Amino acid sequence: MSAAYPWLEPVWMRLLATRSRPAQALLLAGPRGVGKGELAQAWAQALLCETPRADGAACGTCAACHWFETGGHPDFLRVGLQEKTTKDGETRLATAIEVDQAREAVDFVRLSTYRAGYRVVLVDPADSLNLAAANALLKVLEEPPLNTVFVLVSDQPRRLLPTIRSRCSRVDVGLPPAELAAAWLGEQGLDDAVTLLALSGGTPLDALRWNEAGDADERRTVLESLVRPEQLDPVTLGERWKGLAPRLWHAVVYKWLADLLAVRLQGGVRFNRDFADALSRLGSRADLAGLLGLAKRQAEEGRVLDHPLNRALQIQAWLVQYRHLFD
Ligand SMILES: [Zn+2]
Repeated sequence: MSAAYPWLEPVWMRLLATRSRPAQALLLAGPRGVGKGELAQAWAQALLCETPRADGAACGTCAACHWFETGGHPDFLRVGLQEKTTKDGETRLATAIEVDQAREAVDFVRLSTYRAGYRVVLVDPADSLNLAAANALLKVLEEPPLNTVFVLVSDQPRRLLPTIRSRCSRVDVGLPPAELAAAWLGEQGLDDAVTLLALSGGTPLDALRWNEAGDADERRTVLESLVRPEQLDPVTLGERWKGLAPRLWHAVVYKWLADLLAVRLQGGVRFNRDFADALSRLGSRADLAGLLGLAKRQAEEGRVLDHPLNRALQIQAWLVQYRHLFD
């Protein structure tokens, strides 16, 4: 089994080289959208495989691999964000890993292993551990039982408790070289790999998601209206766009404002390179104070995407403010 993505090959080789003496607490850190989750999975499987290949990677055919791949390996526990049902019957991901999940992990590692090999606990996203959960986990991280391996995955390792960070041996997974990422996206059938890569800040898996979910088309529709602020009709557009996923709306608008600011402050367009001309035209005439204010508010909103406000009204209010930037 080789690395899930070509840019992970060097870090995958580094991990495999430690298979005979793996770190008992490993932190895989790096930006989102580069494949850390897949890397962590592959590492867990490599550790649990009972007939690993010469390089240390999982064989993919033994009983342990089979269990792992079908989600039933008794010595593997995955700790992540659980799905919750809201009062309205909607299913949403919890925003934190709760203490009972951490306690389950603690109990799990105190049992004897089922197959007499390693026991692996994968925590992803580790930065979502709430304080109680982090403290519960810390106790076993400080003195992990024999043959126990914790793999923590995080986009925002600074949000981890320093005491947890210091217990882990950290492996950074950086952004792939742009050419490698663009070539890989091309192989996945993306026509505009370079544009989508810029849009996703250089992270290829985000670029792929933009493409797959039809998000790229929705983004284009929104931006084609934003390039003509004087013709914006907030009421109509608010109604039309209220069905857009909040996360998509936020990402599109936030990156658009960031690019306008960059132009206004004499930088270059970073995300929306396919709209570079319109951005330089608009950015140079936008009101700087207003733009800064709007971008700041947008960044704050990004942290609370699921607030139960009236979406249409919220979008309308935003559009009104946006239009004023160009009065
Ligand atoms: Zn195997």
